[in-house]
Amino acid sequence: MSKNTAFPSASLLGYPRIGRRRELKKAIEGFWANKIDATELDAAAKEIQLGTARRLTELGLNEAAAIPGTFSYYDQVLDAITHIGAVPARFGELRNADGQLDINAYFTLARGTVEQQPLEMTKWFDTNYHYLVPEIGPETTFSLTSTRVVEQFEYALANGFETRPYLVGPVTFLLLSKASDEAPADFNPLSRLEEVLPVYAELLSRLGAAGASWIQLDEPALVADQDVPVAEIQAAVARSYEVLGAAAGRPQILVSTPFGALSELLPTLAGAPIEALHIDAFKGAVPSAEELALLAGKTVVAGVVDGHNIWINDLAESAARLDILKAAGLAVTVSTSTSTQHVPQDVTEETQLSEELRSWLAFADQKVTEVVTLAAHLVDPASSAVAICEASAVIASRAVAAGVKRPEVRARLAALTPADFNRSNFAIREAAQDEALALPPLPTTTIGSFPQTGEIRSARARANKGAITADEYTTLMKEEIKRVVELQEELDFDVLVHGEPERNDMVQYFAENLEGFNVTVHGWVQSYGSRCTRPSILWGDVTREKAITVEWAEYAQSLTNKPMKGMLTGPVTILAWSFVRDDQPLGDTANQVGLALRDEIADLEAAGIKIIQVDEPALRELLPLRRADQPAYLDWSVNSFRLSTAGAADATQIHTHLCYSEFGVIIDAIDGLDADVTSIEAARSRMEVVNDLENHGFGRGVGPGVYDIHSPRVPGAAEVSELLGTAVKHVPARQLWVNPDCGLKTRGYAETEESLRNLVQATKEVRAQLV
Ligand code: GLN
Ligand code: ZN
Repeated sequence: MSKNTAFPSASLLGYPRIGRRRELKKAIEGFWANKIDATELDAAAKEIQLGTARRLTELGLNEAAAIPGTFSYYDQVLDAITHIGAVPARFGELRNADGQLDINAYFTLARGTVEQQPLEMTKWFDTNYHYLVPEIGPETTFSLTSTRVVEQFEYALANGFETRPYLVGPVTFLLLSKASDEAPADFNPLSRLEEVLPVYAELLSRLGAAGASWIQLDEPALVADQDVPVAEIQAAVARSYEVLGAAAGRPQILVSTPFGALSELLPTLAGAPIEALHIDAFKGAVPSAEELALLAGKTVVAGVVDGHNIWINDLAESAARLDILKAAGLAVTVSTSTSTQHVPQDVTEETQLSEELRSWLAFADQKVTEVVTLAAHLVDPASSAVAICEASAVIASRAVAAGVKRPEVRARLAALTPADFNRSNFAIREAAQDEALALPPLPTTTIGSFPQTGEIRSARARANKGAITADEYTTLMKEEIKRVVELQEELDFDVLVHGEPERNDMVQYFAENLEGFNVTVHGWVQSYGSRCTRPSILWGDVTREKAITVEWAEYAQSLTNKPMKGMLTGPVTILAWSFVRDDQPLGDTANQVGLALRDEIADLEAAGIKIIQVDEPALRELLPLRRADQPAYLDWSVNSFRLSTAGAADATQIHTHLCYSEFGVIIDAIDGLDADVTSIEAARSRMEVVNDLENHGFGRGVGPGVYDIHSPRVPGAAEVSELLGTAVKHVPARQLWVNPDCGLKTRGYAETEESLRNLVQATKEVRAQLV
């Protein structure tokens, strides 16, 4: 082993890497657009890393290895892919003359080429961060094809900061991988563990030689139930750390396990030759006395400060948890439960928020202070007693602050009865809707948004700056809506949308228009690659002071005789894409949002809107990582959707939209939403979902997407007909709708128009064959 320094008493599992002003976004997008070269990109990346190191040192992380080396140009899983050389065969030879995957190869995997789709992207555990999915097969070769993690460590060290290099651990890497195109049907990526481990071992030796005293291997997959049997995972963990533990000259090893309790894997890691184990002691529980006994001799890195939400830590509660660990005679240090990459950087930047609200919040920088305070508590409880009392006082004052609990909202929730969650029988609704809408077979529609053009964004920016008045902005948006309606008329769509030009974001728009929320100015959180979102803060009881979408929907409907869909974001998605209050069950918060949406639906109906779509693209995202927790989640989430929509008249057609194609696991829940029509993503998976729908006997309207909107590629009419042909074989034609996979917001007009024209043409052809 290299240096034998103790694990730092205070640390973070990870830190935001996009930069305080999204400098990384600007640099990599500039690099992609050929505005800066690789050297300038490298310089920008180094500046961000050193900026982080300086900032974290200033905030008190001044021991060796306390600063997490979690910087990434794009994604931590992609980093692992490039370090171990796991390039899918479909990309051909991406290595350069030195046998290395350089920055261009790296971005090729992330962004694809003209011929090759990029690596698939999917959500990182129960966060809204997306990682790139490794594709592993029997043919995959593994070798050290990048040493970026070593170079980053050396650069920081040369500048006076000994960081703690970070790698996604080998077991998590393989558990998150999918089988490559070349792999046989029953192939399990974990079967390649023996070939992956030597490459990790080599990296560890190099890091040790470079002077790293600690390495962090991140193994979040160990806290989530997997399809692979537990015994197999236990064996993989034991074997992995046996091999890595034996790597020559390696740093000391910290294995981190964010996002929940380790359960069956704790004894396995306790028995492994690693020097420190991080446990999520915020979301997961404090391990039992028996489990703690197994950890003797290792440092326990207690993740007591939540890395995934933004409320200040209940320092008294955390101190109590730390005391239990300390009393068990363990070497305990303090950290966050997860990387703080899931929260914004610094709440002091949000000067537009009230001082009161700000005092309730801890972004990444504030979490550092919390960790440092708790580390001080472990050494000398008296030293942090004042800070702990202060935190308790703020939490107590929050509980009684104006707007946190509104009696009228609570009374309304308490008075709900089962009838409020149920509509009439579908057969009755269907008859009423057929009569009210008189739609052709295979009705065509879109998911809601039309391209957000530069003009739309610039108008919004000018309105926000006060350069144009609110009325001028409204006029511009109405002109846009008129264009979108005329286009759909011309294309001959059956059910129209207004195009959502007035919405900056489908959640933030509602957050800005409901009480109980606030939005941030600089609170960007990386969503994937260079993309960031600014989640809203849901801190109080939710109420709707006035109608939100009605004026727009009514105006759009006035432009056409065809039905215009009212467009709302559902309660689960509003929660999933916001930072949500932690002082009551999520289901209660969801129902409050549900009631506000229910009132909005009533107002839309009164304004003559006959079809209302309530989007729930995030329904799958919040699904708990442990199977045992899933039924309760599905119960409250489905109920909140039903509460939102069940006030609608029989003749009002309720649509919903979901954004993913893995249907199997939650198909009962989707059925439980009881929407009249459900649109879902399907084009990329060539309509695989229709099998699930058929097997399940899904009985209501369904629109499997026939146009993949995630790329500028235009699907031809023949391709769309073929997809529709597959769909009508599995789903009765009378249930089938025709629509793209998702909203068109990120697309340009040229490809959108052509694609939609093909979609309508193909529908007409398939329709003609039906009769
Ligand atoms: N109605 C939204 C849109 O069309 C839905 C977006 C989504 O599913 N993410 O943009
Ligand atoms: Zn979608």
